[in-house]
Amino acid sequence: MKFEELPTPTYVVDEGLVEKNLNLLKGVMDRTGCKIILAQKAFSMFHMYPLIREYLSGTTASGLFEAKLGFEEMGKENHVYAPAYRDDEMDEIVEICDHIIFNSFSQLMKYKEKVLQAGKKIGLRINPECSTQEGHAIYDPCSPGSRFGVKSEQFQPEWLEGVTGLHFHTLCQQNADDLATTLDAVVQKFGEWLPQMEWINFGGGHHITREDYDLDLLESSIKRMQNEYNLEVYLEPGEAVALNAGYLITTVLDTTHNGIDIAILDTSASCHMPDVLEMPYRPPLFHSGEAGEKPYLYRLGGQTCMAGDVIGDYSFDQPLKLGDRLVFGDMAIYSMVKNTTFNGMALPSISIKKKNGDCEIVREFGYQDFKMRLS
Ligand SMILES: *Cc1c(COP(=O)(O)O)cnc(C)c1O
Repeated sequence: MKFEELPTPTYVVDEGLVEKNLNLLKGVMDRTGCKIILAQKAFSMFHMYPLIREYLSGTTASGLFEAKLGFEEMGKENHVYAPAYRDDEMDEIVEICDHIIFNSFSQLMKYKEKVLQAGKKIGLRINPECSTQEGHAIYDPCSPGSRFGVKSEQFQPEWLEGVTGLHFHTLCQQNADDLATTLDAVVQKFGEWLPQMEWINFGGGHHITREDYDLDLLESSIKRMQNEYNLEVYLEPGEAVALNAGYLITTVLDTTHNGIDIAILDTSASCHMPDVLEMPYRPPLFHSGEAGEKPYLYRLGGQTCMAGDVIGDYSFDQPLKLGDRLVFGDMAIYSMVKNTTFNGMALPSISIKKKNGDCEIVREFGYQDFKMRLS
């Protein structure tokens, strides 16, 4: 099938672009000896895992279900971190994961024996209290009152027995300078305990596959931990794996006017690109401009009955017509993993664009996917 023939709405993930990202990440692994694993929270399209498996060292999960997906579909190193674990999931987690990271000393004490008996590795998430991001407080794990990680003032070195690694995750869409700043804070606050560790996990939020990313600084930061503390270094990016590697194709269903021209699309910000409202941000749209840049301005809205289901104001060279197809960019990450059937919206199908340009639908959804979650 050609890209232009795919029925809408559909997410399309571009195999060649994912592979380009993977090659870049593999380069970092090869040059430094670090391990990079996929944070499935951002991208769990397991149809692509056979490709990802050729490049990365494994997966990380935020709980049992993602861990199971990584175990079943990736089958390599399988890490897990959760703010707290449930008793009824712990046996299975310990069975299928090899690195289990705890958020607090109380969780560590509760489950430590179980993990050690299974011969699995224990990590502890630390909070270096080093906020390096502005603007996205909801994505800042170092914000005041954050529930993530142990602060240095709460650290209980006498309880570290059995812990072989420390984990921090403080970045979101950031460059290596913020990682370097964070590492300084980690060393300043927790450096005393690093010599007794075997590994350190730098978390995610590294925008490694972005054009302006400073790979040299990333690699020297990795080497710093390897050389000074003899640690194995893990990175667990989500975004960077499938950054700018996917689209959401949608069709114009109607155009109306209320002070501004409005186009209703067969998609929804709320259901299909929730980060547009949650983050919030304005998704890139091919062949469009900012308001005022091109002659025909439209407010693009979704099919739900939620007034705020608006993707944004975009300008075009030509007036929009019913049946026009619009292609949003960077829709592989934090899209299909977050979508909902709110208001009875159908989920977009999931497609791939292969390296030879051919497109294929790999999964379609229907009424049953809406009904199944209700009773
Ligand atoms: C979200 C998350 C990641 C991945 O973050 P990206 O911003 O997608 O790179 C990695 N580790 C943890 C603990 C996370 O919560």
